[in-house]
Amino acid sequence: MSDYVKELMAEVKAKNPAEPEFHQAVQEVAESLALVYERHPEYRAAKVLERIIEPERVITFRVPWVDEQGEVNINRGFRIEMNSAIGPYKGGLRFHPSVNQGILKFLAFEQVFKNSLTSLPMGGGKGGSDFDPKGKSDLKIMRFCQAFMSELYRHIGPNTDVPAGDIGVGGREIGYMFGMYKKLRNEFTGVLTGKGLNWGGSLIRPEATGYGAVYFAAEMLATKNETLEGKTCLVSGSGNVAQYTTEKLIELGGKVVTLSDSGGYIYDGDGINTEKLHFVMNLKNVRRGRMQEYVEKYPNAVYTPVDPTMEYNPLWNHKAHCAFPSATQNEINLKDAKNLRTNGVYVVSEGANMPTTPDGVRLFLEDGILYGPGKAANAGGVAVSGLEMSQNSQRLPWTRQEVDNRLQLIMKNIHKTCVDNADRFGTPGNYVNGANIGGFLKVADAMIDQGVV
Ligand code: NAP
Repeated sequence: MSDYVKELMAEVKAKNPAEPEFHQAVQEVAESLALVYERHPEYRAAKVLERIIEPERVITFRVPWVDEQGEVNINRGFRIEMNSAIGPYKGGLRFHPSVNQGILKFLAFEQVFKNSLTSLPMGGGKGGSDFDPKGKSDLKIMRFCQAFMSELYRHIGPNTDVPAGDIGVGGREIGYMFGMYKKLRNEFTGVLTGKGLNWGGSLIRPEATGYGAVYFAAEMLATKNETLEGKTCLVSGSGNVAQYTTEKLIELGGKVVTLSDSGGYIYDGDGINTEKLHFVMNLKNVRRGRMQEYVEKYPNAVYTPVDPTMEYNPLWNHKAHCAFPSATQNEINLKDAKNLRTNGVYVVSEGANMPTTPDGVRLFLEDGILYGPGKAANAGGVAVSGLEMSQNSQRLPWTRQEVDNRLQLIMKNIHKTCVDNADRFGTPGNYVNGANIGGFLKVADAMIDQGVV
């Protein structure tokens, strides 16, 4: 590690204690940028990274709400407005009991680079709450969403800050929040993305993150003159990203053998076909049930519950060619990375944000695995959110084909940006450096153009 990175990290840790995920995200970027600073000391002199790691604004607020039993509940709400150099703040809202300021700062920081990579004019932000939607009635969800928006509405707007979904926030939650925003502001604008199709949403937005992660994997494979046809794939999670990753993999001839939720994972050696995927979509999106039910319907599959005493995740310990982590941060540790390699996996495309620990990432890079980091591989979601904003501004919906074509082109361009920047800075094939540097340069130049603000 260079002296610059050591000094920077010492300051980041001192100023932001108890935010380990944020430290992890900053360190990875700082290490990549050390390569840029050797050739371009002007970025270091202008303290561009030091400015990016300090959020432009951190909003924290109380979210009190009353449930159907008359009980008063109090949650904590956040919006991190990280960087607006190249456009309005843009990034999802996460509802999960693990949410805290550090996790949202890591996500908002990653978002700055990801949004820049899409080539669309979007700054970076992230928000959410420690509210746990799992197992809650629709009425509770609606009341919470309304209470959350009754504060958030004063900080966001179609030209200021445009949130979307993330873990625990799907179409249902976006609907309740949009309804409350519209009532409070008395205006119908594109203030949230991931909206329903008949009230301003874009075709392909629900599919975009998963489809994009698969398109990115296809691009990486194409560098070796290979395709996804016939490849066995491990997918984690069973939410939005996992579902559409699976759908696109099936379409392109891949065989998906795993899915999971926080309770455990299923291994289906016959492969998850379209009919089985529809069962999972209904289970998760309509009945809001648990993955365990999969093996009741398809008894050839095996369900393994999570064992918190294990030092590795057995989902990553099956013979396969490709892995698509699509659940949450740090779900692949060093042992998991070794297991993946031993089992023949040579393509990892991250649908989730920062799902691999730094030592796991190091192993992938040292072993020449085609490793697409989340900020590049899962950028398709926010890219189509950007396209939803364009359609809202035009008040004109585009066809499914048009949005999908643009998504494919954007993922192709992100892949090219990563490859070109990795080459240019002397680390060919290193998509981590390529994504960090490619995302940084555009934001850094904009910040320098706009002065110290
Ligand atoms: P989602 O629909 O809420 O699904 C999340 C899935 O991951 C669920 O199966 C959930 O299981 C599982 N999960 C969540 N936290 C977990 C934990 N701590 N341990 C084990 N399993 C866990 O969310 P999503 O939108 O698919 O997001 C998944 C990942 O993709 C996140 O890292 C997110 O930041 C990233 N991402 C999402 C988008 C997007 O457009 N939605 C865009 C870019 C990146 P349970 O149901 O049991 O909790």
